[in-house]
Amino acid sequence: MSLIVQKFGGSSVANIERIENVARKAMASRQAGHDVVIVVSAMKGETDRLTELAHGAAQGHGPRPRELDLLLSTGETVTIALVTMVLERMGAPARCYTGAQVQILTDSAFSKARIQDIDAEVIREDLGAGRIVVVAGFQGVDENGSITTLGRGGSDTTAVALAAALGADECQIYTDVDGVYTTDPRVVPTARRLDRITFEEMLELASLGSKVLQIRAVEFAGKYQVPLRVLSSFEEGPGTLITMEGDNMPQGSMEEPLIAGIAFNRDEAKLTMIGVPDTPGIAAQILGPIAEANIEVDMIVQNISNDGLTDFTFTVNKSEYDRALEILRHQAETLGAREVFGDTGIVKLSLVGVGMRSHAGVASLMFDSLAAEGINIQMISTSEIKISVVVAEKYLELGTRALHRAFDLDDRSGKTVSVEGETAN
Ligand code: ADP
Ligand code: ASP
Ligand code: MG
Repeated sequence: MSLIVQKFGGSSVANIERIENVARKAMASRQAGHDVVIVVSAMKGETDRLTELAHGAAQGHGPRPRELDLLLSTGETVTIALVTMVLERMGAPARCYTGAQVQILTDSAFSKARIQDIDAEVIREDLGAGRIVVVAGFQGVDENGSITTLGRGGSDTTAVALAAALGADECQIYTDVDGVYTTDPRVVPTARRLDRITFEEMLELASLGSKVLQIRAVEFAGKYQVPLRVLSSFEEGPGTLITMEGDNMPQGSMEEPLIAGIAFNRDEAKLTMIGVPDTPGIAAQILGPIAEANIEVDMIVQNISNDGLTDFTFTVNKSEYDRALEILRHQAETLGAREVFGDTGIVKLSLVGVGMRSHAGVASLMFDSLAAEGINIQMISTSEIKISVVVAEKYLELGTRALHRAFDLDDRSGKTVSVEGETAN
């Protein structure tokens, strides 16, 4: 007998009919002889609705983080109760718990709390008594008893953390697509489902914008070696297994693919300082105040200087753009820079693949295929297993599709990818 943690996202619990589907899946696993812990998200759209309500209530003052987290956590609390009621009605003994009730202890960083400890004892007792255990995703409690949340997409992290704490045999993430694809199938209808992907690649894709798994869930799974699988709530299939590097390819396969997938991120904005004196320490003087304001910087480019003057460009999250621009304008005056401007209409496209390590030419093929579509590259950054470029936001679809084709990632089987609300391909 094994222990399985199954996580169901918002669209999988969007109404009672879908919750019945969740209950049937959990009961089938139970009947197959497994112990089952279910982690659920808020019903589809609920976290957004609660966020809007909070902003309406605070009216520009910015809701207090402690109260906002308490409010947002109620979405998941509603779902655990409904799922448990449905399970009981369908004849499966079950019990539900909020994050605080199972002591998912976190730090006090509201809206992005980190899990520090989980007391799995109460869950083990229920499992021992033959119950299905239903736990609220996304929420925890800090040492003062305040309710915290783990950041958008955080139910994935709850599921993986519980699986690690319980020593589960597998953590299954059920969602509205049947696995991890070569890119978001909503943008590229010919995207292909991957049977396997390495933790390292999944971590890069998640951090570069693929929201199919929350980045911290992947980090956790890698660190505690939790076998992790992404599957569809709505159709049968093997899904995608996240694996250790090395067991990436099935035995006997010829070669590791060059590129595992393509991610994009529209949440960044670009800031540029033009005509700033090129003296030692200039980068520190520009970015120091940004760091002091706790604004995270992603990509940075400094041009070679011309007549002792240089241009300096960097990206930040869109939510911090206004603050960063204000700081930069102030710095420009102090440093005697000619001009400061910003651009929120950008997107970062990234290629990810461990195969890149041993292959030259990935970057040039990337640049060639974007050029062939007339797409201008504004910034570039590379690391061992990824290359990212910043382009104008209007090229998101065109650029992603061109790269998908150029790196031979298209699915040629003619299979239909069904995505919630629409049918792609
Ligand atoms: P859930 O509510 O179940 O947590 P999410 O919306 O968080 O679901 O994640 C699933 C979505 O992730 C898919 O509908 C898809 O649009 C998007 N996505 C982005 N990149 C990928 C990818 N590489 N593979 C699969 N889905 C992706
Ligand atoms: N309900 C939260 C969100 O919408 C957490 C989650 O679904 O994982 O982000
Ligand atoms: Mg999610």
